[in-house]
Amino acid sequence: MAEGTAKKQDAGADTQDLTDGFHLIIDALKLNGLNTIYGVPGIPITDFGRMAQAEGIRVLSFRHEQNAGYAAAIAGFLTKKPGVCLTVSAPGFLNGLTALAHATTNCFPMILISGSSEREIVDLQQGDYEEMDQLAIAKPLCKAAYRVLHAQDIGIGIARAIRSAVSGRPGGVYLDLPAKLFGQVMNAEAGKKSLVKVIDAAPAQIPAPDAIKRALDVLKGAKRPLIILGKGAAYAQADDAIRQFVEKSGVPFLPMSMAKGLLPDTHPQCAGAARSTVLKDSDVVMMIGARLNWLLSHGKGKTWGDAPKKFIQVDIEPKEMDSNVEIVAPVVGDIGSCVAALLNAMGSKWGVPPAEWTNAVKAKREENVAKMAPRLMNNNVPMDYHGALGVLRTIVKERPDAILVNEGANTLDLARGIIDMYKPRKRLDVGTWGIMGIGMGQAIAAAVETGKPVLAVEGDSAFGFSGMEVETICRYNLPVCIVIFNNNGIYRGTDVNKASSDPATTVFVVGARYDKMMEAFGGVGVNATSPDELKRAVNAAMDSGKPTLINAVIDPAAGSESGRIGNLNPQSALKKK
Ligand code: ADP
Ligand code: MG
Repeated sequence: MAEGTAKKQDAGADTQDLTDGFHLIIDALKLNGLNTIYGVPGIPITDFGRMAQAEGIRVLSFRHEQNAGYAAAIAGFLTKKPGVCLTVSAPGFLNGLTALAHATTNCFPMILISGSSEREIVDLQQGDYEEMDQLAIAKPLCKAAYRVLHAQDIGIGIARAIRSAVSGRPGGVYLDLPAKLFGQVMNAEAGKKSLVKVIDAAPAQIPAPDAIKRALDVLKGAKRPLIILGKGAAYAQADDAIRQFVEKSGVPFLPMSMAKGLLPDTHPQCAGAARSTVLKDSDVVMMIGARLNWLLSHGKGKTWGDAPKKFIQVDIEPKEMDSNVEIVAPVVGDIGSCVAALLNAMGSKWGVPPAEWTNAVKAKREENVAKMAPRLMNNNVPMDYHGALGVLRTIVKERPDAILVNEGANTLDLARGIIDMYKPRKRLDVGTWGIMGIGMGQAIAAAVETGKPVLAVEGDSAFGFSGMEVETICRYNLPVCIVIFNNNGIYRGTDVNKASSDPATTVFVVGARYDKMMEAFGGVGVNATSPDELKRAVNAAMDSGKPTLINAVIDPAAGSESGRIGNLNPQSALKKK
């Protein structure tokens, strides 16, 4: 009997091999190499989770769907296969939806599969258990949304979901599975035939030779060129070609946050430590898998200086071109194909940019690095951000295979600048929205998908959004070390409310011991008050692979409002002093 089929005795003498919705979904996922599900069990998918586990799919049960969703989204980024998140109907679905929207915004392939209530009752609004028109609600928040009503359509439904998630610009897909579908029975042989193994899910998109020539002509004419690498470039897994291209061009490169490590941050062409200079002074900017959105000040304004600039953009999405400023040389295609074509067309006689420019960038970079160095070595108690991050910086240097997850305000901004990355896709963070709450979901998926140790550097506030998942980390015994930068509050722990006895809106319990949370579930908890203690605790955790949470006590007065993006906070002109 084929895998996933059930033998049903009919009333008569006939015996027929049957399968059902449960098994068809499981078989369709497995057939397409989707072997991990992140989710939360409940009606109507509890049995589905059990059966999927029994059939060899790894099913990770979370404490909240949003965290399972963030796990699925980052699994998509890390593997180029859609990460699968499974939720119950209405409330579970809505909890997963934030992550689906986040995946779409970040161009990560993900499939949110939610069970739903009975269509007949939902559509007549007769008040079913968890009644909600989930498909309609999901649609504007994802790249594509589908519903499967009949068991024989499961194969096609899952194939469409996979293609939609990974082809072209990747994104989130919603798949609606009504409760009744799971139990629908059909002939096993016909069921097997109805499944689709998706061939070439993300077809190469070859750039036009004209576009390649145009881009290289513009780059060649530059006096002060700059390459910006974005997380699309990291996603593409074209690491060798990108490195060769950047090195052959001789152009300084600036990695966006999640593109750090594509080439090491210590590479001689890295302009990370000279960011404001290169953005301001460059005359030609080539974007590879990065968008000119708010994270790059939309390609204009003070950040970019007054000198005229030409932009080259390499991206799979044609509509991205000219979205914020004119792109004089659009190169549309997948990054692997585009970079290979660029390399090929550069030929053997490609000159390097003027030394005046590359030396100026190098000088600025060395100046900034030297300025920072002594601050990173301070041993202050209570710790400030620099003292604590100086320690973590060394640990990541010594353990370049570890995956760094990072969220918070100051904890994010400062860690991004201070901690050098050495390998691709090792830095995972808040992404395009600057979202808080990705921490534990990303840490779990990073450990599960890569088998590598994970270091999650978390602001105390950011951690709170997903903190209950420390139980999940302990339950699956994952090699995750969480460091909480505990400064007693959001941005700082020093605000005072003068109007009532309530605490100020941005402060938390003073002296909280987050390490005790980990101990509650059998993990290792450490309270670290000095850089030395922090260093010892993190190294021990990374060596042992035991789930660990280190409460790093940070000076509550350290840190600034909203980190580096305080300018985005509107201020009232009428504010009482
Ligand atoms: P960052 O935030 O690092 O600047 P963005 O998320 O803004 O990066 O940009 C990523 C870009 O990469 C998106 O415009 C997306 O269309 C593009 N992209 C994603 N995957 C690929 C790929 N395989 N080939 C080409 N472009 C890609
Ligand atoms: Mg804080």
